[in-house]
Amino acid sequence: MIDHIISYGRQYITDEDIQAVVEALKSDYLTQGPKINKFESVFAQFCNSKYACVVSNGTAALHLCAMALGIKPGDKIITTPNTFVASANGFRYQGAEITFCDIHPQTFLMDLDKLETILKASPKGTYKAVVPVDFAGYPIDGERMRQLADQYGFAIVEDACHAPGATFTDSKGIVNRVGNSSYADLTVFSFHPVKHIATGEGGAVTTNNRELYEKVCLYRTHGITRDSEKLTRHDGGWYYEMQELGYNYRFTEFQAALGISQLGRMDWSIFRRGEIAKKYDKAFEGTVIKTPFRADNVLHAFHLYIILVDNRKALYDFLRENNIFAQVLYAPAHLMPYYKQFGWKEGDCPVAEEYYTKCLALPMFPSLTNEEQDWVIEKVLEFVR
Ligand SMILES: *Cc1c(COP(=O)(O)O)cnc(C)c1O
Repeated sequence: MIDHIISYGRQYITDEDIQAVVEALKSDYLTQGPKINKFESVFAQFCNSKYACVVSNGTAALHLCAMALGIKPGDKIITTPNTFVASANGFRYQGAEITFCDIHPQTFLMDLDKLETILKASPKGTYKAVVPVDFAGYPIDGERMRQLADQYGFAIVEDACHAPGATFTDSKGIVNRVGNSSYADLTVFSFHPVKHIATGEGGAVTTNNRELYEKVCLYRTHGITRDSEKLTRHDGGWYYEMQELGYNYRFTEFQAALGISQLGRMDWSIFRRGEIAKKYDKAFEGTVIKTPFRADNVLHAFHLYIILVDNRKALYDFLRENNIFAQVLYAPAHLMPYYKQFGWKEGDCPVAEEYYTKCLALPMFPSLTNEEQDWVIEKVLEFVR
């Protein structure tokens, strides 16, 4: 019997993490100091990307990508309905028109055949960006995305908030880690407490494109530059210029300290998530529960472990009575009242809508104990039998 609440996701903070934050608080900088630079460099290295820019949260990261790409009112972009609304909102802030492309019934990621159908129906260049989401930690097929991007002329902004550490092996046999910028123009991460790295709030953009990187950094701090090569005047050492309209989307030093400390455990954390997933898979084998798909060329980062069941609401309620706070992710974004006002309606993305009636995210986080997982498994099996 478990007498405490087990949530679907949870941050893991060690004494080492706390020590790192205390140290940052005692240092000379609370924001825009050396720890942010260090976190950016180790995060870029972790992703295998040239550049990383860390920002105040994942939503800000998406907005900065839209700005860096020059998205303006009326520009069209495509994303998936099976995501947190921020994937679309970041582009709405710039006035983009959002098209929702339905998901694949096996991976629950954007269906790239359906994406191609949408792209084919309009002239090249109609869509300025496509924002696929590495849903639950399953990486999108970046290689196919790149082919489509080149053919139809759009930028790829990969929303990898669920998937740091995930990999997919491309047709050349190269193992691509999510965020390595081999195929995507820009990749976005979040450091919200339920995500892999938890800094309270936080986010990052990775890219191999220097121009886009510089724009993201510029818009992160009001559009202000101190770069002497870019200044229009040289008044003295104090002088800076605001050259474009940006925001304050900065991160803090103590958050960076927390991020650096947690990044050191990422390989273990991904491994542990994989272990938990395997144990669930095995326990639910041969039952009515549909367990997550993964292809051979994919390393799933398992931000979420999602099962499909017919009587989902009853299972959700039953688990809650037993202190297990499973979660339903996601109510389709195109059916949010805000997006419905643009004409989106039931039936527009049937696979995502059907998925939503059956999905349930079971507890999945690296510090989940064996005893806790056994309890979850026992209760799920008790319900389905
Ligand atoms: C968490 C999340 C975001 C937004 O991140 P925040 O840091 O909470 O702003 C965006 N997209 C997806 C898919 C997410 O899961």
